[in-house]
Amino acid sequence: MNNSWIAEIWSLAGLLLVAFILGLVFGHVSLFMLVATLGYLGWTFYNLYHLRRWLAIGRKYHPPDSFGIWGDIFTEIFRLQRRNKKRQKRLVKLLGRFRETTEAMPDGVVVMQASGVIEWWNEAGGRLLDLKYPQDVGQRLTNLIRNPEFLSFIENNNRHEVLNFAAPADKNKIIAVQLTPYGMDQSLLIVRDVTILQRVEQIRRDFVANISHELRTPLTVMSGFLETLTGDDTITDKNLRRSLELMKQQSKRMYRLVEDLMLLSKLENEQRPVKHEVVAVPQLLTTLREEAMIISGDRNHQITLDVDLDLYLYGDSKELDSAFSNLVINAVNYTPTGGAINIRWYQDDTGAHLSVSDTGIGIPPHHLSRITERFYRVDVARSRETGGSGLGLAIVKHALGRHAAHLRIDSEVGRGSTFICDFPPEAMVNKSEAREAI
Ligand code: ADP
Repeated sequence: MNNSWIAEIWSLAGLLLVAFILGLVFGHVSLFMLVATLGYLGWTFYNLYHLRRWLAIGRKYHPPDSFGIWGDIFTEIFRLQRRNKKRQKRLVKLLGRFRETTEAMPDGVVVMQASGVIEWWNEAGGRLLDLKYPQDVGQRLTNLIRNPEFLSFIENNNRHEVLNFAAPADKNKIIAVQLTPYGMDQSLLIVRDVTILQRVEQIRRDFVANISHELRTPLTVMSGFLETLTGDDTITDKNLRRSLELMKQQSKRMYRLVEDLMLLSKLENEQRPVKHEVVAVPQLLTTLREEAMIISGDRNHQITLDVDLDLYLYGDSKELDSAFSNLVINAVNYTPTGGAINIRWYQDDTGAHLSVSDTGIGIPPHHLSRITERFYRVDVARSRETGGSGLGLAIVKHALGRHAAHLRIDSEVGRGSTFICDFPPEAMVNKSEAREAI
């Protein structure tokens, strides 16, 4: 108990003692005690009244005059008020600085409630999304930006997803948006102007598409001549024959590389949605198995096929054929002689799946996240030996992406790898339904 409490108790005790003695002197103890108690109660009410008035007025800085425990209470509250005011000032300053910083940011920021109602935005956010102050505060962002892709992007609320679309205020600009939930039911929409990036990316794609197209014709001519020359029996010089053979091999490799580059460019540049024809996957896989047996040759791989004969897909047969054949040919190329390769085509609750497993060399775990990048190889020398272009898995990834499918890789060094393509249920079609559709 602090000093003021002890002093207060002593004062009250002193008051009651004086009242008691006076009561004894005048012969009315109860009356004097009652008057003293009422007096104390009156004092307490008086102070409570001032406290209430002071707190209600609020702006008056100085507390009411008093003494004893009440004096202490007033001083404590006054000190607390001053401390809060200082803290408030500091917070206002901080908020001001935060706003200045976000205003200066080149990226747009929009603060929204989880329901999509806009609370605040910075200058870049307002400019890129064409938001008007104050009428757009409190509006739903999806009511202002009427773009179906943007609507499903906001509804899905996936923090890792980035959506690119034409800026509402200027259709020549491309903006990228990303949604990050934070705090209690709030989300932050980050908006970036990616027009230049997209243009550079388009230039790169066009360059690769054009260069591979331009290279194909001279390469075809060269390969043709080399084919003729290597078959010419009049050339008897051993060294010359060997050189011609090597040139033929290398030109074939280059041709394959150019073909893969062209296919990848086509998949990347394709703006139209994927064709929705019915693809008879079991038949496609049977043909692929036969091709794989030919490539395997005297390496004698055991290639088994385990397919659901009634399971067909909606999609583009050429793109799916490229994706699946790359997986099967890789399995053959990266599995030692006599190894086993299993191709499985099946369905479950999550959709349709193609899995290609092998008992090959496997892939070290730290390569897995980058393996689908173009020209990424675990062992460059081995990939060259097998005639690989380093583009196979990039083609698989792009072709699957166009079918809303995903690639999963499970691998262990020395034991083998499994590549699984997961297709959504919407892409599946039953053989009998497929016949009707055709
Ligand atoms: P490449 O033409 O070199 O085969 P890919 O893009 O098809 O190019 O594959 C990239 C790399 O992934 C390959 O170089 C190889 O190192 C590795 N890889 C692909 N498939 C397999 C597999 N089934 N087993 C082991 N490694 C594989």
